[in-house]
Amino acid sequence: MLLTTFPRRKDFEPSIEVLNTLGLSHQVVDPSPGYRLVGVPAIVLEEDALRELSCTGSDEFYCSGWVNFLPGTRSVPPEEPELFPEDRLGTVAIMVLGPCVADLSKIRLIAHISGDLSEVFPYLNAEMTSACFNAGGPSLVFMEGYRMISLLPDRIAVAKADDIVDAWRVLERVRRLVNRCWEHRSILTPCYERRRKPPAIEIYKRLPATNCGVCGEATCLAFALRLWSGEVAVSQCSAVFDGPYAHLKEALLQLCSGMDLRIEEQRTTYDGEIGRYRE
Ligand code: SF4
Repeated sequence: MLLTTFPRRKDFEPSIEVLNTLGLSHQVVDPSPGYRLVGVPAIVLEEDALRELSCTGSDEFYCSGWVNFLPGTRSVPPEEPELFPEDRLGTVAIMVLGPCVADLSKIRLIAHISGDLSEVFPYLNAEMTSACFNAGGPSLVFMEGYRMISLLPDRIAVAKADDIVDAWRVLERVRRLVNRCWEHRSILTPCYERRRKPPAIEIYKRLPATNCGVCGEATCLAFALRLWSGEVAVSQCSAVFDGPYAHLKEALLQLCSGMDLRIEEQRTTYDGEIGRYRE
């Protein structure tokens, strides 16, 4: 069984029409009432039904991507979501939904928001002392258990959600966190300090863990620590970037760009004209 959701409610309804017209049976997982402000209903289909749907090539079925359906242990809260005088997230649209590259039993998503979080970041950074803030991006990355959450001005990326209900829960949690922080910003001192606290272990967990040594480090953990401290670029892990572990690349790049770590190795070349090495 496979599950998808939709960026907007108006994408969901025509898609249901398509399924009904084709006579394809499906289940609906609804984020209402508790997560209705951050989610659009999801559809669960049998693999055969998805194959049939794909064959029709219908333009009316505009979804965010497919993941294995994992019947969750969580349920949607029966109460309405908290409302705020000013909702800094605005409309939330899950544009990308897919399996986690580093852990295929989990899901990852990217939600675009109509609001702008740039002004909220310094206040969130003042409150969340374990978050990784990059004022230049700007971006703010933090962990919720084993899930990594990256906030950009117009986007929220969630890695390692357990299932769609867990993903909606995380988005709703971000919505409350951002809006509560914004509501009492008058008693906070905005903080622009760049913190580098999230553990290098998160990088390590996305490396091949073979300790092959091709990057010049004795172990993947040593490489993760040097990457974290800015001494090396992630592309120097040849096992991922030129070798048999290419499937880990996307998750590593996502993590490193969220934390503003070095992606590409700086190459030093000899410039014959000026007679010296340059970067
Ligand atoms: S090249 Fe990659 S897999 Fe090999 S030791 Fe370095 S970090 Fe680990």
